[in-house]
Amino acid sequence: IYNSGQNKNITLDDIFISVKTTKHYQYTRLPIILKTWFQLAKQQTWFFTDTENRQHQNQTNGHMVNTNCSASHQRKHLCCKMSVEYDHFLESGKKWFCHFDDDNYVNVPRLVSVLQKYNHQEDWYLGRTSIYEPVKLYKKPTNKLMFSFWFATGGAGFCISRSLALKMLPVASGGRFISICEGIRLPDDVSMGFIIEHLMKKNLTLVPEFHSHLEQMKLLAPETFRDQISFSYAKVKDEWNVLNVPGFDTRYDPTRFLSLHCFLFPQFKYCPR
Ligand code: UDP
Ligand code: MN
Repeated sequence: IYNSGQNKNITLDDIFISVKTTKHYQYTRLPIILKTWFQLAKQQTWFFTDTENRQHQNQTNGHMVNTNCSASHQRKHLCCKMSVEYDHFLESGKKWFCHFDDDNYVNVPRLVSVLQKYNHQEDWYLGRTSIYEPVKLYKKPTNKLMFSFWFATGGAGFCISRSLALKMLPVASGGRFISICEGIRLPDDVSMGFIIEHLMKKNLTLVPEFHSHLEQMKLLAPETFRDQISFSYAKVKDEWNVLNVPGFDTRYDPTRFLSLHCFLFPQFKYCPR
């Protein structure tokens, strides 16, 4: 069935979409996701947070997972969340694990159609790099290069096939992911790259349709929005790095995600017509 090079059997239901979030962003970043793309993947999306919120639990039909990881930006606590996301994916039995940040917009139909090009029974690590060189680890005290590897930037989103996720099980499951992060002292997404590229010897496949706010969002052309998998936004000092998309006023829609959503899915009830 894979002879055509396309696996049309993959549907949204085969994908475990996980979103990392935190107490601090529950009223700023979460509501816009819940109002937009989450509506297209309610059964497949899970939020990994560090607080309890009854209202959000109701709005997501119980899809908020309290990781019991601390609400802080320290490496250890972010790795703690990734570890819980990965364990929940294994438990879910789904074919693809796709991680996103809470400042990502996920173009759900496009995510599905891109994954249809890959076989989940093979080892795939799909994403976008944030740097132009691989990460290099040096041996102390001689500073001799031990090895280098690439990683997919977490802020753009990445996907891992079930086959690969299962191979990582002995080193990464049941909280062992946290020990790896601590061992190499690198962030969660970099640690994922270390496990896959260095320990599993599987290469990252570049999928340029993933986007983080490390790129200039305004450089993405609206004609291509439908082809992209993810988008992001950021506010640096007083400057917003956001998509240039026609739609709602920037005071009402500073992140541009509502406008993007109406651009892609104009049938939504709150979209102008
Ligand atoms: N995050 C978190 N705990 C924190 C801070 C951030 O879980 O204490 C999550 C946040 O919800 C987001 C991701 O980490 O999904 C990246 O956070 P942010 O966009 O603030 O930072 P960036 O790394 O993009 O600069
Ligand atoms: Mn961010």
